Amino acid sequence: MTDMRLIVVGAGGRMGRSLIGAVAEADGAILVGAIEREGSEHLGKDAGELAGVGHLGVEIVDDPLPVFARADGVLDFTSPAATLAYSELAAQARIVHVIGTTGLSDEEIARLEPAARHAVLVRSGNMSLGVNLLAALTKKVAAALDLAFDIEILEMHHRNKVDAPSGTALLFGEAAAEGRGVKLSDHAVRSRDGHTGARRAGDIGFASLRGGSVVGEHSVIFAGSSERIVLSHAAEDRGIFARGAVKAALWGRGRKPGHYSMADVLGLSD
Ligand code: NAP
Repeated sequence: MTDMRLIVVGAGGRMGRSLIGAVAEADGAILVGAIEREGSEHLGKDAGELAGVGHLGVEIVDDPLPVFARADGVLDFTSPAATLAYSELAAQARIVHVIGTTGLSDEEIARLEPAARHAVLVRSGNMSLGVNLLAALTKKVAAALDLAFDIEILEMHHRNKVDAPSGTALLFGEAAAEGRGVKLSDHAVRSRDGHTGARRAGDIGFASLRGGSVVGEHSVIFAGSSERIVLSHAAEDRGIFARGAVKAALWGRGRKPGHYSMADVLGLSD
């Protein structure tokens, strides 16, 4: 089979650069386009040089149409508004759309569904193997323990992150809720401040810390009366998300249109 032709949108971002590097080093994939928004200081630069992986002969441009037309897949870690716009282009081009963007509201996620009828959409708040494995474990532990164990999810990220709780924290929350057989939206406590009253049994709590250059740290805490179980993951390098995204794109090639998760890619969904 020929190499899968991939494009990176948001090419100048932290994840965009990491994605360019991951595509450049992947077997079976080739970078054919890199897109940034109109007016970006990165337009006209070589994508490989910007990502620090040497000249790739792919210029960063702001017009997505001709680039989407020659691609098999798009890697998208941008913003909710940009991701919604790119999902329409991916659907028109009938290609694989890997979405790492976090902070989408339920309503925005619902707006992706029409695109998933024509494109292979793989979306996850975290594309790393370790986190998805930990989500599968979280579901199992939550199913095994009763409400005597309170579930709290703690995350820390770098100072520039704009959404909270992190997409990964929410992914763990969904896994815990699934394990308990409840809906996360009915039990999530996303922040606490002031006189909150006692914790309600069955709540799934979130706490977010921000600072420095932390790539991503998460703990799922099951707190019982005299014991605590803590499942933790620390991301040391953005490369784990970028390599996961490339893996998701290669997995999606030739697959039926639909909305898939990283658990599907890794064979962890049941
Ligand atoms: P970032 O450095 O701010 O990068 C976002 C990039 O997208 C920027 O270059 C931004 O350009 C660009 N962009 C925004 N709107 C655009 C548009 N309409 N067209 C083209 N480019 C556009 O942020 P980041 O740290 O890379 O994170 C990006 C997203 O990925 C966040 O939602 C983050 O939470 C998520 N993330 C997900 C995972 C995962 O595994 N799923 C892992 C890490 C991060 P400007 O700078 O010009 O606005």
